[in-house]
Amino acid sequence: MKSRLTESSFLQVADRPEVIVSRGDDPYNNTRVALSRIDLSPARGKRVLLKPNAGRITAPDSGINTDSQVVAAAIDSFCDAGANVAVGESPIQGVAVMDAFDATGITKVVQDRECRLLDINANPFVEVAVPDGLAIRSLKVCPEVLEYDIIVSIPVMKTHMHTGVTLSVKNMKGCLWRRSKVELHMLAPVKGIDEKSINVAIADMSGVLCPHLSIIDGTVGMEGLGPSAGQPKNMGLVVVSADPFAADAVACSLMDISAKEIPHLRMGAERGYGKIDLKSISVTPNNWRDWSSPFLLPPENLSLEFPGVEILDSNSCSACQSTLLLLLKNHGDDLLNDHGSGVPLSIAIGKGVPEIPDGCYCIGNCTAKHQKKGVFVPGCPPVGSQILSAVYGKGTSKNSNDN
Ligand code: SF4
Repeated sequence: MKSRLTESSFLQVADRPEVIVSRGDDPYNNTRVALSRIDLSPARGKRVLLKPNAGRITAPDSGINTDSQVVAAAIDSFCDAGANVAVGESPIQGVAVMDAFDATGITKVVQDRECRLLDINANPFVEVAVPDGLAIRSLKVCPEVLEYDIIVSIPVMKTHMHTGVTLSVKNMKGCLWRRSKVELHMLAPVKGIDEKSINVAIADMSGVLCPHLSIIDGTVGMEGLGPSAGQPKNMGLVVVSADPFAADAVACSLMDISAKEIPHLRMGAERGYGKIDLKSISVTPNNWRDWSSPFLLPPENLSLEFPGVEILDSNSCSACQSTLLLLLKNHGDDLLNDHGSGVPLSIAIGKGVPEIPDGCYCIGNCTAKHQKKGVFVPGCPPVGSQILSAVYGKGTSKNSNDN
């Protein structure tokens, strides 16, 4: 069984990776056009696993999950090349992957093409060594990721509260066994490195779980409070490359973000896993920069986004953070009206919050140590309805589970 995915299956000029950007009203056509510029013949007779973003049960066009027509076009392109294609995902805790596929329309496009649709979290994980890792020494990986010949990362173009952006390199975190994903958010600081340990760990991961091809779906991206609670942003484009770092660097530039400011991309490139210097990347077409449109960055301080709410967040993972932010977006005014008092509504998430004020809502199992002082909502993560019932009931939710 392979433990590295880094050898390229697709034609690249070693020192100058090629990135193709395709823009238009039709995501299927954008993807087909971009992929037509890549020689997919190495995929003939091979088993190809497409790994989209399907981490949430949400409507198409929300900017959260990969557009089903991008997935459809990728399937068709690889089938035309003679590959045996499957589509798989391992979403966050609390989300049933098949429900997420149904909601996005991915189930239908896969079934129409008689391909396999996989919950890659369903089977026991395979432990993969990370020999050059600084924050991690091994990863628990979904087995299909190692069994398939070619892995294609198909993320959405999004900002991310913890990692700056989430594109084709970060999307490979969705290939980890579900329960192990949270471990990457709980790591101790790495000695001698100022970056957050989650960013070091993603750079580490990219040394062993680098996709063979990247198709970044910029049909509808997400800005601000990504990856799940931000604003959808229409871009109408697709970015393709056999160098995921180069694809991510071009996507960053289209978002008006420097890839050098994204720690996991900078650290991965410094280790030689891929190129992010735009001067070293060949981008087609020449006028691709005309399509750049600035994305709102994730806020430094979450509390500023929700006046009247004080969010104490330390070492939380995306599952709890996204659940909370979506809840505040949808029910924040009601919660504040109910809270009523002149003091902020305090909410704690993550394992590292040292102290909380009396009456603070402690969201998720990581905050259990504060439950005597606050209102504890168990779960990993709790679902939104549990948080609402705890807040309105002013008591500990009884439903302690993994959702
Ligand atoms: S309780 Fe929340 S922050 Fe803690 S591991 Fe679970 S989902 Fe992540």
